[in-house]
Amino acid sequence: MSTDSHLSGLTGTVIHDAVVPARAPWLHHIDAGQTLRIVDLEGNQAVDFLLYAAADDAERYSAQDTVAAQGNLFLREGTTLLSNEGRPMMTIAATSVEYHDTIGGACSCESNTLRYGHHTKAEHACVENFLEANLMEGRGKRDIVSNINFFMNVPVEPDGSLGIVDGISAPGLTVDLRAEMDVIVVVSNCPQVNNPCNGFNPTPVRMIVAA
Ligand SMILES: [Zn+2]
Repeated sequence: MSTDSHLSGLTGTVIHDAVVPARAPWLHHIDAGQTLRIVDLEGNQAVDFLLYAAADDAERYSAQDTVAAQGNLFLREGTTLLSNEGRPMMTIAATSVEYHDTIGGACSCESNTLRYGHHTKAEHACVENFLEANLMEGRGKRDIVSNINFFMNVPVEPDGSLGIVDGISAPGLTVDLRAEMDVIVVVSNCPQVNNPCNGFNPTPVRMIVAA
């Protein structure tokens, strides 16, 4: 009997199981019908997430299509992640966090210097992780489009302003994504230390694929 609580409720056979260290990138191909579970091991760790169609990576996740189709800004259980061609790529089959963000964007060295000062220029950032991981498959900066921030809390105030505030995740909370087509998932385990998106302390996350 497994005593691994991170696997509870996950059906099928585990075919991939990896811990992504704090600040590191991760890339994996996931076939239609397989489920990716992301585990926020220590809590309040933003997982920046890009998604491409494996058959043609010009088709990729579109925040605008996804938000417009569901008529809501937040990604919750039941959300279908749509491509720029309006096709379902993955579905949030389950999540123990109330909602996830797709409007906050990904941090970069450039945005850090604008927001937090020039002394942050040398700090590692999500865009650099995305570039490093995508380079293995020939994708570049123009292929970095809208992303998802799992476990990140970006509330929208009544006047439309955005916050990046303390997370609503906690140690061991998860999100399960069922692939609706063959996809390429690219993740940056966010290195940000200048705002509360990682509790000012980037930590590892676990990626489990079940088939
Ligand atoms: Zn980041």
